[in-house]
Order: sequence, then structure tokens, then C-alpha cells
Amino acid sequence: MKIIMLGAPGAGKGTQAKRIAEKYSIPHISTGDIFRANIKNNTELGQKAKTYMDKGELVPDELVVDLIMDRFKQADAANGYVLDGFPRTIPQAEALDKALEANGESVDFAINVEVPDENIINRMGGRRACVGCGATYHIQFNAPKVEGICDTCGEKLILRDDDKPETVKNRLSVYHDQTQPLIDYYNKKNVLREVDGTQAMDDVFKAIVDILG
Ligand code: ADP
Ligand code: AMP
Repeated sequence: MKIIMLGAPGAGKGTQAKRIAEKYSIPHISTGDIFRANIKNNTELGQKAKTYMDKGELVPDELVVDLIMDRFKQADAANGYVLDGFPRTIPQAEALDKALEANGESVDFAINVEVPDENIINRMGGRRACVGCGATYHIQFNAPKVEGICDTCGEKLILRDDDKPETVKNRLSVYHDQTQPLIDYYNKKNVLREVDGTQAMDDVFKAIVDILG
């Protein structure tokens, strides 16, 4: 099964993608996580990506497409995946379709997690990310057992630089300009499914499982 998560930054794509990956035994592929791992390891790709990410801009399509094509070659991606944060532009979606078509494949579902902008600032301001394993929490909606500490690996939790309000505003405007057109793109391909992302996390997941079967 090949699944794409669509939605604004902070809509809950990562939260749901992790649960989908577990239930359907497919890898969760997050381009944002891959870039953050590269930044942490101070790779050349990480250094390039950071300059865009810090401003809330998108990393150029060529870099992202090369990275994802490499990731697809790994053995765990052979039976499908849930993509989180990719594609984010029409050229990225076209590159994905082209690569899939070459193998006679296509995207099965593009799930749009709908959350209005007014909820997003609160979602992002309360998000905390683990510096060790990348797990995500929310200080109000999904708090860790011990404040500031990851339940899973015991490392420190931080507010991502790009989750600060000034950057979030830019990320939302970039989302509306460059990523929202993908809703129409996948609708035309009859693979778009919408879920109400303002519900509690468990209810969003139930709605997704109803779609995926
Ligand atoms: P995205 O991957 O779309 O950027 P995340 O999955 O990281 O978004 O979610 C953003 C923040 O909102 C996180 O702190 C997460 O714990 C929280 N969150 C996710 N889904 C919900 C929900 N349904 N209700 C409330 N908070 C949520
Ligand atoms: P995310 O973790 O998905 O919120 O992504 C964090 C940041 O990484 C984004 O604001 C972009 O700067 C960059 N990024 C992640 N995925 C992509 C993508 N598919 N295309 C361009 N930039 C991306």
C-alpha cells in the first residue's frame, strides 16, 4: 500500500503516519525527519537543507526528489510506505508519479488531514520533539510522562526552531501557495480522501483506518 499524508504543517500527519506504519507494517517515510537527521549528523545535505528549513521555506525539489528516490531503494520500501511531508509541490508529485509509473505502480491513497489555520499555531507552539529518537509530543494534547523528557528514549524534548510563531506563519503561507494545490491534483486521480484533523488523535486514526480498510 502506498499512502501519502497531505495537510498543513502541524495537522497531525506525522502522528497518524506512525500509527498507520505500525498497523499496516509499512515504513513511515518523513522527508522532514530525514533532513533533521542529516542536520544532526552535519552532512552536506543537512547543511544545505537547514538554510531553507530555518526560514520555513521548502528545500529545492531536486534535493528532495533525489533523497526520496534513494530511500525507495531500501528493502523495507518494497511493499509500500506511508509518505509524510512528501510530495509538497506539484513537481515533486509529478516526479513521484513518473517513478511509480515506470514500475507499473501508483499511489493508492492521498489522505488529507484537514485542520484550519487558526488551530495550527497552537498545535505547533505546543509540539515538542525528542532530540534523540524524533518522537513527537504536545504539551497539552499528548504530554510526555515527565515534562521535557522523552517517554521512549529518555532524551530531552525541544521546541523545533521552525515551530516558533514567526516561522510557522511563513510555513503556513508556503503550504497554501505550494502544497495545497496537491489536494486538487490527487482528487483528479481519484485517490484523495479527507479526514477531519481537529478531532482527537484516536478518532482521526479511526477515520483513517475506515478508509484504508
Ligand atoms: P505534522 O506531522 O502534520 O507536522 P504532527 O503529527 O507533528 O504534525 O502534529 C503537530 C502537533 O500536534 C504535535 O505536537 C502533535 O502531538 C499534536 N497533534 C497531532 N494530532 C493531534 C490531534 N488530533 N489533536 C491534538 N493535537 C494533535
Ligand atoms: P516537516 O517535518 O515535514 O514539517 O518538514 C520540516 C521542513 O523540512 C519543511 O518546512 C521544509 O523546509 C523541509 N521539507 C520537508 N519535506 C520537504 C519536501 N517534500 N519538500 C521541500 N521541503 C521539505
